[in-house]
Amino acid sequence: MDLELSGEQTAVRALAASFTDREIVPHAAAWDRAESVDRAIVGKLGGLGFLGLTIPEEYGGSGGDHLAYCLVLEELGRGDSAVRGIVSVSLGLVAKSVNAFGSEEQKRHWLPRLTSGAALGCFALTEPGTGSDAANLTTRAVREGEHWLLSGTKTFITNGTWADVALVFARTGESGHRGITAFLVPTELPGFTRTEIHGKLGLRGQATAELSFDRVRVPDSARLGEIGKGFTVAMAALAKGRMSVAAGCVGIARACLDAAVRYAGEREQFGAPIASHQLVQQLLAGIAVDVEAARLLTWKVADHIERGLPFATESSVAKLFASEAAVRAANNALQVFGGYGFIDEYPVGKYLRDARVMTLYEGTSQIHQLLIGRALTGVSAF
Ligand SMILES: Cc1cc2nc3c(=O)[nH]c(=O)nc-3n(C[C@H](O)[C@H](O)[C@H](O)COP(=O)(O)OP(=O)(O)OC[C@H]3O[C@@H](n4cnc5c(N)ncnc54)[C@H](O)[C@@H]3O)c2cc1C
Repeated sequence: MDLELSGEQTAVRALAASFTDREIVPHAAAWDRAESVDRAIVGKLGGLGFLGLTIPEEYGGSGGDHLAYCLVLEELGRGDSAVRGIVSVSLGLVAKSVNAFGSEEQKRHWLPRLTSGAALGCFALTEPGTGSDAANLTTRAVREGEHWLLSGTKTFITNGTWADVALVFARTGESGHRGITAFLVPTELPGFTRTEIHGKLGLRGQATAELSFDRVRVPDSARLGEIGKGFTVAMAALAKGRMSVAAGCVGIARACLDAAVRYAGEREQFGAPIASHQLVQQLLAGIAVDVEAARLLTWKVADHIERGLPFATESSVAKLFASEAAVRAANNALQVFGGYGFIDEYPVGKYLRDARVMTLYEGTSQIHQLLIGRALTGVSAF
């Protein structure tokens, strides 16, 4: 793998970095306190092509490869994980699924809207009773002629209250993963209600919602992929999605490093900057190593995708390591800040709160350990 970035990758990273410094960093704390990112950010992300990376230009995408995508998500994640999550879900989980599994009609309808930011997508897999055990979901889709009637509840859905289209996984057949089908459901349909979830520890600026379906009627043309193959759609989306979470975690860890190094140079104790104390340098070095290691594992996934190599286990490894590293980095950065890290005048407390969910969603750390263990041994320990 060539670790030197191409001219195009360098340019897109610079664009994302300046956008993050200008449009995200100055507002992140206020959005966190207000429990809402400014929705205008969606149009700005679309305008720069950040919602269309890796999607073909004929469908409104901005092209680019998966490493460019990781570079952009690292920068956005450095600014605000709540913004990075908007892209990870609408582009990473929804638009990419439409591109991979959609009919020509579905691609022509949804992709230009999703890539421009005119429409936002959400990914509705988790239910109140099924999180890690997603294959046992109970939301039902019942066939009625050329239509399907969807009933059930989804929870913890990122972009849920903002989305124009929900990629919904519903049971259409037997129990287990073979009885699940995916649908692209416009959120304005009768019977579709959504309720914002408040009181989150982190990602407070993100629109996380519970979605309810009361006999929501969609045509068969809203089905994404084959009947009974919805779980394949979900797992394919998450295999790549975990790379984007990992890239976002690298961004958090980098933000922690930048903040902690700056503070260590400014704050004086015992007559010298705290940066001159060896145990503070140990904390900084730990964060720096985590940034580098998490980034290289993430780039390896992008490289495998580009070269057509298997990447699901690599994606689990990167997500597991990067999410745990982001929590560690934020915890270490807070330690460098001492008591000042504990109040929200400084950003490190938010980094820690935002990092904490990374080990939970798109597969908890335990689930990734089981996936890696299964790949190593051939034995499923679920
Ligand atoms: C802020 C946020 C945003 C989210 N966004 C989305 C979204 O956009 N779309 C979506 O579909 N979902 C979303 N989720 C849901 C997320 O993916 C789930 O929370 C996650 O999959 C875990 O499910 P659970 O919360 O039900 O925990 P559970 O599955 O109940 O797990 C509880 C604990 O048990 C452990 N555990 C479970 N099974 C095993 C096992 N076999 N072996 C060992 N340990 C096990 C877990 O690791 C965990 O520690 C989001 C969640 C949050 C918090």
